[in-house]
Amino acid sequence: MGLLASKKIQLQIALCIWILTSSCTKDSAMTTPEIPEPGEDIVFLPLVIHVVHSGEPLGTGPNLSLERIVRQIEILNEDFRRKEGSRGHNNDPDGGDTKIEFVLAKQTPEGKPTNGVNRIDTTQIKTRELGYNQTHYAQYAYWNPSQYINIWTTPLPESTECMVLGNATGPKTDLPGTEHLALPGPNDAEGILVNWIHFGESNIDCHARYGRTLTHEMGHYLGLLHTWGAKDCALNDYCDDTPAVDREVFGREAFKGCNGETVMIGNYMNYTHDDVMNIFTHDQIARMHYVLKNHTGRNALTRSIALKNP
Ligand SMILES: [Zn+2]
Repeated sequence: MGLLASKKIQLQIALCIWILTSSCTKDSAMTTPEIPEPGEDIVFLPLVIHVVHSGEPLGTGPNLSLERIVRQIEILNEDFRRKEGSRGHNNDPDGGDTKIEFVLAKQTPEGKPTNGVNRIDTTQIKTRELGYNQTHYAQYAYWNPSQYINIWTTPLPESTECMVLGNATGPKTDLPGTEHLALPGPNDAEGILVNWIHFGESNIDCHARYGRTLTHEMGHYLGLLHTWGAKDCALNDYCDDTPAVDREVFGREAFKGCNGETVMIGNYMNYTHDDVMNIFTHDQIARMHYVLKNHTGRNALTRSIALKNP
């Protein structure tokens, strides 16, 4: 017992050192049993989309059409699977297929069939004003976060369009940099909030119109930091294969970050334009798989009832 326990601690220390020093080669991953090479098998995660609207007819404004929602989930999967022929494809040697796929829930918490889309007319519901956060929207609907990834689409103030695209709560794990994620308090809801105008594809006059907001927020939900981390060249995003940068990465043009390296403009964990985003790196993928393996709630998602028909 004692030996096993101390061996476990040694492995955990080795793991932390690996994350801090990893050069992200295949060899280093293979010699570190605690971080698996991203799975040979695909991991499926269930989603529920709570469409929060103000009584608009179906398919109008925030009461998004089913077609637009389904296309958004397709984009999410193209990005996470680095699908050839899609915007999410890249040939970068640092880029990878996360082997994570998302599925609209097939059953409700009550065991009823669903298409994974839950429409809520807010004009019929009284809530307390808690702000633009998950806990506020959970008053309308909140499904067990160990069985579903809760995603709320909703209008955010018009003045923030093209700026505040969405947000996500992060998982609390022992990964370095976890403190920079938006960690929910004990009574807070967890999930992802997306301004409806940035959900799915549209022709709005804005850089965020190809559905990459959800890809970015899902990265946070699975434990990724922005590429600039805490805006510190030394303590960055804890992924050595994303060039270090100490400020926010916007726009479409790459620039030099720390150590004279060119920033990875296409990384999903930037604030860059939707039309240049196309890469998760091997280190980022390893981080997400670490979360799926070690965070109780995120791990339970992989075995959720929502993945199966009732
Ligand atoms: Zn972000």
